[in-house]
Amino acid sequence: MKKHNFYAGPSILPEDTIKNTADAVLNFAGTGLSLLEVSHRGKEFVAVMDQAQALFKELLDIPEGYEVLFVGGGASTQFCMVPYNLMNKKAAYLNTGAWANKALKEAKGFGEVVEVATSKDKNYSYIPKNYEVPVDAEYFHITTNNTIYGTEIKKDIEVGVPLIADMSSDIFSRPVDVSKYTLIYGGAQKNLAPSGVTFVIVKKDALGKMERHIPTMLDYRTHIEKGSMFNTPPVLPVFSALQTLNWLKEKGGLVAMEKRNIEKAGILYDEIDRNRLFKATVNDLEDRSLMNICFVMNDEYKELEKDFFDFATAQGMVGIKGHRSVGGFRASTYNALPKESVEALVAAMKEFEVKH
Ligand SMILES: *Cc1c(COP(=O)(O)O)cnc(C)c1O
Repeated sequence: MKKHNFYAGPSILPEDTIKNTADAVLNFAGTGLSLLEVSHRGKEFVAVMDQAQALFKELLDIPEGYEVLFVGGGASTQFCMVPYNLMNKKAAYLNTGAWANKALKEAKGFGEVVEVATSKDKNYSYIPKNYEVPVDAEYFHITTNNTIYGTEIKKDIEVGVPLIADMSSDIFSRPVDVSKYTLIYGGAQKNLAPSGVTFVIVKKDALGKMERHIPTMLDYRTHIEKGSMFNTPPVLPVFSALQTLNWLKEKGGLVAMEKRNIEKAGILYDEIDRNRLFKATVNDLEDRSLMNICFVMNDEYKELEKDFFDFATAQGMVGIKGHRSVGGFRASTYNALPKESVEALVAAMKEFEVKH
């Protein structure tokens, strides 16, 4: 039976990415050797790294003065690298969920952290608005897509201080005005590649202003100087990322991707809003994520939760269980998820409604 992959991360990747990676594991770039057993300094892999960085810049239209890095450690390591490199005394954070909160907590080890607003009062089901960012904050940190709670900041904001964004789960889902940000980072395993590589887009002239010593591996300048080859990079995920970037370009780039994502998410949100058995956990349309769609059973049908889960699973749905801190269901509709999968889930919801 066809499987419909709604996992939140690691998650669905384009078929081309998986097939080309599998091929390269067997025979990389005609070398007769596996991607897993060749030097990262050989010309074949150096070309992969160069192309991945170039295509990253092209697809996101990254202006001059920014560098794209591929490093290890996951987005979670960025929670400390960001303040290490960019915060002497004071930084501001928007607390929109568990990941945002982890980033904020980590920064507290480096100086004064101002939580400008939080949506914790309603289990992070909305994006706070009308907050004020202190003008003396060295940066303002946001999490654009809150993977667990299904909220998203879908527009590039401006706050008057350098902006930093964790875009782990919505990178490449829409065009981004990179010039509005000082740094953007994310783990690759939601929308780009298998886990193991972390991307960083950093404005070079923001670096080098810290009073503290920065450990070599945690200093962005180390990785800029060596083109992400200071130490052995995560070779396989970088190769896979390049395949996804090629796929994105072929599909028409980020304008086309955004259009697709709006359409897919719209089909599912419309059904959640229409179907009497279900309700969305995020009410404000503006705040609803296009990448992670969270919904629960309506109060009077709560006892049907497990039944629907089993019903949908029997029809090929995979990974729709909501995160334990929200409950219910979460359908992740990343770039690579075909519209047919969303339609299959909607069909299951309609059929289940008829039965009850
Ligand atoms: C998954 C996720 C993370 C954690 O990423 P790791 O690479 O596992 O450290 C951080 N932020 C957001 C928004 C995420 O979705």
